[in-house]
Amino acid sequence: MVFDWFQNYILSMRDEIGVDLGTANTVIYVKDHGIVLKEPSVVAIDTRTDEVLAVGEDARNMIGKTPGQIIAMKPLKDGVIADYDKTKAMLSHFIRKATKRGKPLTWAFKYRIVIGIPSGITNVEKDAVRSACMDAGASHIHLIEEPMAAAIGCNMDIAEAEGNMIVDIGGGTTEVAVISLEGIVTSTSIRVAGDELDRSIMDYTRKRYNLQIGERTAERIKIEIGCAHPSSENLTCEIRGMDQVTGLPKSLEINSGEVREAMQENIDLILKAVRETLEDTPPELAADIIEQGIMLTGGGALLRDLDLLISKDTGIVTKVADEPLLSVARGTQFIIEDPRTYSSFY
Ligand code: ADP
Ligand code: MG
Repeated sequence: MVFDWFQNYILSMRDEIGVDLGTANTVIYVKDHGIVLKEPSVVAIDTRTDEVLAVGEDARNMIGKTPGQIIAMKPLKDGVIADYDKTKAMLSHFIRKATKRGKPLTWAFKYRIVIGIPSGITNVEKDAVRSACMDAGASHIHLIEEPMAAAIGCNMDIAEAEGNMIVDIGGGTTEVAVISLEGIVTSTSIRVAGDELDRSIMDYTRKRYNLQIGERTAERIKIEIGCAHPSSENLTCEIRGMDQVTGLPKSLEINSGEVREAMQENIDLILKAVRETLEDTPPELAADIIEQGIMLTGGGALLRDLDLLISKDTGIVTKVADEPLLSVARGTQFIIEDPRTYSSFY
C-alpha cells in the first residue's frame, strides 16, 4: 500500500518522453508538453580533440562553413548508429534540452522513454540505442520499430487483422512495412531516401553544368522545385555553386524536369521497394491494402507528387500523412498517452 503510493509518487515525478531518433531529424515528445523539440541529427566536433562543440540546429549551421578543424557530422547513417559516442552525446543533449533539465539527472528525475528504431536493426545496435538512452538518464526504455510508431502516429488501425501499408521515407532509409495485428508482417528497408536524392542532384549539376553544389543547396532545390511525376508543374529556381572549370562561383537556373531526371533512378528504387513488398504480402492482406490504400510518411513523403506516382504505379490509392515529419514522434506520444491500448509496446 505505502509502497504503491510511494511508487506512484516517484512515477509522477518522472518524465515520460517519446523520441524519434532519425538519421536526418530528432523529434522529442514530452508528456503533458507535446512535441517540444525537432532538430537535425547533427553534431559539430573539433577534430583535434574529438570534442562535441555544438548539436542540432547550431551544428547544422556549421556544415560546409566550418574552419578546418571543426567538422559537422551525422552520427546516424543509413538508419543505424554509425558513431556511438556522438549519438550518445547528441541524444543526452536533446533530452536535457527537451526536458529543460540542464543539471545532471538525479535518481528521482530519471525518465521513461519510448524510442523509435529502424526495423532492420541488429541486436547489437538495439543494445547501443538502449545504453545511449541509459547514459542519457532513462530508467525504463521501450524500443519500438519506427514503421509501427509511424503507423500509430498516422492513426492507422494497427490492432485490426487487416493489412496496412506504410512507406516511411527518411533521410537515410526508406522503410516499407505491412502491419497487421500489432505486428510487422513484411517489410523492406533500402538505403535510398532523402539524402540519396540530394546526392543525385549534386551529381547531376556537376555532370551537366560542371557546377559543384553543396548538400544543403541540393536539398533546397529538391524541396523547392523537385517533383516525382512527369505531369507535375514545372518550376524553376536559381542555384549557386562553384564552376569546376574556372574554379569561380557561378549561378544558373534549373527546372523541375531536370531535378526529376536527376532523381529518377533513386525514385525508381523506392517504387521497386514498394512493389516488391506488395508482392511479398500474403494475398488476404494485399486485398486489404488495395482497399485501405498506402500511407506515405517521413520527410521524403513531402516530395511533390510522389503520392501520385506511387498511386499510378501500383494502382493503389496513396496518401501523405498529415505531418509526415512528426509521425514517429506522434506514435510514441499516443503510446505514452494511452498505455492501455498500446500495452504491447509499453
Ligand atoms: P529521418 O527519419 O531519417 O530523420 P525525416 O523523416 O526527418 O528523416 O526526413 C528527412 C528527409 O526529408 C530529408 O532528406 C529532407 O530533405 C526530406 N524532406 C523534408 N521536407 C521535404 C520536402 N518538402 N520535399 C522533399 N523532401 C523533403
Ligand atoms: Mg524517420
